[in-house]
Amino acid sequence: MPTMLAVSGLVHRYGGGPTAHTAVNELSFTVEAGQLACIVGPSGCGKSTLLRCIAGLITPSGGEIRLHGDLVSGVPADLAVVFQDYSRSLFPWLSVRRNVEFPLRGRVSRRSARRARAEEALSWVGLADVGGKYPWQLSGGMQQRVSIARALACQPALLLMDEPFASVDAQTRAELEDLLLRVRREQGSTVLLVTHDIDESVYLGDRVLVLSRSPATIVADLPVDLPPDRDQITTRGSSTFVDLRTEIARLLHHSPDGTPAPTTDRFLAAERAEAARQARVTTRQ
Ligand code: ADP
Repeated sequence: MPTMLAVSGLVHRYGGGPTAHTAVNELSFTVEAGQLACIVGPSGCGKSTLLRCIAGLITPSGGEIRLHGDLVSGVPADLAVVFQDYSRSLFPWLSVRRNVEFPLRGRVSRRSARRARAEEALSWVGLADVGGKYPWQLSGGMQQRVSIARALACQPALLLMDEPFASVDAQTRAELEDLLLRVRREQGSTVLLVTHDIDESVYLGDRVLVLSRSPATIVADLPVDLPPDRDQITTRGSSTFVDLRTEIARLLHHSPDGTPAPTTDRFLAAERAEAARQARVTTRQ
């Protein structure tokens, strides 16, 4: 498979002088066309910074990023991003259909073609019958499906997803994970998905890149040796799944410099606290 994304020696520092903070340090990896690669790392390790560099939203301090061979400088036209915060990424004054059509305006000249593309993308995510509604008339899970449809309608070379399911309840999260697996298989999309959830990274990925604590470096690049047809119950109960999630948890709990590792309980408590914080943020909105 050809290389879709190549990240080489990526460094990003916020600020300058003695208060400069290195968020990403010497990161290098590639993603092949058609692959779903997951990046997992502790909260605050630099995952969003990496993603924002790839999306051309911030200019890295060092290294380079290439999308199908082209150097990324500015937001690439054939890249789409799905953010965690669906409530802020959809326009409340536009119907669902027009939200999906919106980014197509600069890419597809005929209005009827934009409409057809939007309808098709909504059908991929099972929302063919809600195109005339407004985002605020839909549940959180449905709004995130609209965000996914909007990204897919652009037929991106690379779909970036930043903690896309972190703001929905557990049941909806499982449904959205399965939807992503199905749509990605049907559309042959190349996906780079960032998450702090170890289980989600194994369940979704063809491959899991494990990041260290801040500043982010890659501590492991693990193939996921699970069949492509995954199931929330049998896949998560399989020994391959359990072994891999245990391996990733172990890697995340041991810093490369040998400093004492937090226990699994402490790590999971921190992850639960972060999930609760996200849920509170969502509830307040
Ligand atoms: P993650 O997505 O893994 O939670 P981030 O990429 O958001 O991590 O942040 C990595 C580190 O960079 C954190 O220590 C964070 O505080 C810092 N950081 C993120 N954005 C900024 C910014 N705009 N200015 C200064 N520091 C930042």
